[in-house]
Amino acid sequence: MKKLALHWKILIGMVLGVVFALIMTNFEWGGGFISDWIKPFGTIFINSLKLIAIPLILAALIKGVSDLKDISKLSKMGGRTIVMYLMTTVIAVSIGLALVNVFNPGKSITEDTRTELVEGYTDSTAKYKETAAMQKDSGPLQALVDLVPQNIFSASTSNRNMLQVIFFAVFFGIGLILIPEKKSKPVKDFFDGVNEVILKMVDLIMLAAPYGVFALLAALVVEAPNTDLFIALGKYAITVVAGLLVMIGVYMLIVMTFTKKKPSFFLKGISPAQLLAFSTSSSAATLPVTMERVTEHLGVEEEVASFVLPIGATINMDGTSLYQAVAAVFIAQAFGMDLTLSTQLGIIATATLASIGSAAVPGAGMVMLVGVLGYAGIPEAGLALIFAVDRPLDMCRTVVNVTGDATVSMVVAKSVDKLGEPKRKDWDDNYHKE
Ligand code: ASP
Repeated sequence: MKKLALHWKILIGMVLGVVFALIMTNFEWGGGFISDWIKPFGTIFINSLKLIAIPLILAALIKGVSDLKDISKLSKMGGRTIVMYLMTTVIAVSIGLALVNVFNPGKSITEDTRTELVEGYTDSTAKYKETAAMQKDSGPLQALVDLVPQNIFSASTSNRNMLQVIFFAVFFGIGLILIPEKKSKPVKDFFDGVNEVILKMVDLIMLAAPYGVFALLAALVVEAPNTDLFIALGKYAITVVAGLLVMIGVYMLIVMTFTKKKPSFFLKGISPAQLLAFSTSSSAATLPVTMERVTEHLGVEEEVASFVLPIGATINMDGTSLYQAVAAVFIAQAFGMDLTLSTQLGIIATATLASIGSAAVPGAGMVMLVGVLGYAGIPEAGLALIFAVDRPLDMCRTVVNVTGDATVSMVVAKSVDKLGEPKRKDWDDNYHKE
């Protein structure tokens, strides 16, 4: 497998993982074997990626911001990033709403299936509702308050606090721009070095990626709920997936229009990150790889990527917002409710906000969906309807979340003249030798 590009190796690992699990499920002890002896390797793989997320953000962002040399560049880039993120999210929700209104997947759910699903999954969804209720208790400006940590060391102890770490890193970077060069140089050099080390660690972890995804997918297959439910929810799942595919098409169009790069170039460069997003269901865990792919393979300069991508991983979730729109209307349809146009427009706003608020971890989109349902007056019990297929859809929407971040990083880089030629060739996946 020496010359094979990384995305092929990962893909082979994924397929073998699924096949292996399907074979093992024929044996009584097969499921237990995978849970006990295979799954832990998947967990170790994800943990090793998460392990470097916070140090990576700190080092890359501090270096990136201080490299900008003046603050007006930073605000220009910041403004464009936020506008692009908002725009892509609104496009995503609108696509979701359009498709769910055309396909009407909820109308084909029978009364019996609905009752069965709601009864079967009520316990599982209680946890999600609880988490959502906790988040709802806070005031309107809570998100802003949460942005500023009281203590950077305690903030950096949890990957959930990524925005706080970003805030600190940008603030620190600004400080660094404002002090005399003589003093700032050693600090910059230090973070520069740390950044290199971390990117090297990403390379090393990626050597294990094909095996990691093998373990992750094998574990998912043996833990998946029964397939009957998939069929009942098939139309809903197809609607979400169709929307996500359209969104990938939109990204390619955006990349082509704004950066004049070919879609095949873009997809080839980003595909290992997409496959990893699919296998881990977590934009945060994928972030180190997204950063590496975008800078080394798509030609985005580091000072842009290190700013745009960590922010995107936490606030830009186009796949999640699209899914929330489809899910909300699907549940309403299944309960026989007709949503008015103004409610649907409101769903665009709430799904956009909910996706910004979703953490970059598996299942987060479902927690925030509670808010969207609440806004539109749709019964929360409906969460139980979609629970069975949430994990596979989570995997797909995470791919879109990551692709969206990469797209915006290219566009922003182009707009500030920081999009160059990729440093590495396709087949050259393990470098950082220099
Ligand atoms: N798993 C998604 C992500 O990490 C969030 C979600 O939609 O649940 O991007």
